[in-house]
Amino acid sequence: MSTSESSVNVAANFLRPIVEADLQSGKHSSIVTRFPPEPNGYLHIGHAKSICLNFGLAKEFGGVCHLRFDDTNPAKEEQEYIDAIKDDVRWLGFQWDGEVRYASDYFEQLYQWAVYLVEQGKAYVCDLSPEQAREYRGSLTEPGKNSPFRERSVSENLDLLTRMRAGEFPDGARALRAKIDMASPNMNLRDPILYRIRHAHHHQTGDQWCIYPSYDFTHGQSDAIEKITHSICTLEFEDHRPLYEWFLEQLPVPAKPRQYEFARLNLNYTVTSKRKLKQLVDDNHVSGWDDPRMSTISGFRRRGYTPASIRNFCDMIGVNRAGGIVDLSMLEFCIREDLDNNASRAMCVLKPLKVVITNYPEEQEQILQLPRHPKREMGVRELPFAREIYIDANDYDENPPKGYKRLVPGGEVRLRGSYVIRADQAIRDAEGHIVELHCSYDPETLGKNPEGRKVKGVIHWVPAAQSVECEVRLYDRLFKTANPDKDEDGETSDSFLDNINPESLQVLKGCRAEPSLLQAQVGEGFQFEREGYFCLDSVDSKPGALVFNRTVTLRDSWGKA
Ligand code: ATP
Ligand code: MG
Repeated sequence: MSTSESSVNVAANFLRPIVEADLQSGKHSSIVTRFPPEPNGYLHIGHAKSICLNFGLAKEFGGVCHLRFDDTNPAKEEQEYIDAIKDDVRWLGFQWDGEVRYASDYFEQLYQWAVYLVEQGKAYVCDLSPEQAREYRGSLTEPGKNSPFRERSVSENLDLLTRMRAGEFPDGARALRAKIDMASPNMNLRDPILYRIRHAHHHQTGDQWCIYPSYDFTHGQSDAIEKITHSICTLEFEDHRPLYEWFLEQLPVPAKPRQYEFARLNLNYTVTSKRKLKQLVDDNHVSGWDDPRMSTISGFRRRGYTPASIRNFCDMIGVNRAGGIVDLSMLEFCIREDLDNNASRAMCVLKPLKVVITNYPEEQEQILQLPRHPKREMGVRELPFAREIYIDANDYDENPPKGYKRLVPGGEVRLRGSYVIRADQAIRDAEGHIVELHCSYDPETLGKNPEGRKVKGVIHWVPAAQSVECEVRLYDRLFKTANPDKDEDGETSDSFLDNINPESLQVLKGCRAEPSLLQAQVGEGFQFEREGYFCLDSVDSKPGALVFNRTVTLRDSWGKA
């Protein structure tokens, strides 16, 4: 799909001038960034911001970006997540430099550095239980206490660490800790854990290890090994920066990366936490990680969002250090704009009502040519016009409200791209429901206005015989409250499950699509005229049983109905 210019404004990114200055001053001759997901779930829209930022800066300044899995917690990680994350990054339009990297590639080097710290008297094996360690740690208002194991000799520590690695001790029996400062006002510096004992199988290293490094001990050193120049993470790691720097100072690392923090993306009507998204999947509130209502990248993809729309959204929200909640309608604006520019038009009748055009000859069929796009040169689609067609049941009303411009008894309306018809008679079943409409057409009105009268309304339609039966899924926001994470008192809680919108999915069967939609491809967006933007469902749609997802409505009418 070709993309025309977007009108999205690119907002400020405070990291751009920093990178620029580092390149100008010669501090770095080129930049290396990384995107470091933990493979414990699918990526969500918040990750898209980080991906666009890290890959975007590298691209803009002629540098490179690594994809590195932060895989230090084997209990929660899975190959399925690794594969999905790679797909999502590529789909967003980015390519990492070289092979995919794993923090676990560096486990041996990290272990050697742990030994080095022990030898320098900067790390020790601590036998406090996790509960005791918590007690010794103190609080934000109270300093911690030194562990009774803090003054072990270097040789005893080396012996214990070797035996930890060899698997002599059970999970949680001991830990390796850095010897920094139990009284530091920064809790992260209160002798943080470097290694935990976990007899767990790892998706990359198998059963090679039974001790695993902590995030803090892994992250900065992995950055150093990869000679990352700008290590960009979200603000909750700001307090970890002194520790990040402490390790880099103590260890004989090959480079000294710098950490920068930015505000995470929070989107209203949305949860962006892998834990919560996983809960939605595990508890069957949605059909899976790629359910089109999910805020995952794979969910947006299946819903019909384009990579460009998500990248534009990330450009539009910018990068800064001040948090805040972004309005979901900004994201919807971006996809609407993209599809308005690029999506082929088509007609699909969601609630079919048969119309017989009584003065149109029974055997006759006329192939009409309708433009794929009203403004751009995208060619035409062919649409047969015949005696029997379908219109939407909502487009005929015997008691029309004021201002109704569609079909009324005895009234006229234009069929999009076709003739003007007049409603002559409604045929009813035994219960009085309208089952068919008899109309007549004006043969002089193809491509021109009727003589001597004005016809205001235009409705969509499809030919009865040549149209294709399909299922249409209308999606709405998954949550009915703007802050699904908050309960009624505004407190953060797990009540997000109570805020699920019970009407977030409406399934319509027996819809009728124009025949050109038989050629629809997965990943292709359409504007169903007067109905919204749609795409083929990548999972459930099959030849002979087409399923279309509504990506977004034509206009932002949320909450205004
Ligand atoms: P979650 O809380 O959803 O599990 P996480 O931060 O633990 O997210 P990671 O896999 O560790 O997930 O994240 C990889 C990268 O994406 C990190 O650099 C992280 O800071 C960034 N990231 C995660 N969530 C957001 C967000 N909402 N906005 C911007 N960046 C994010
Ligand atoms: Mg994380």
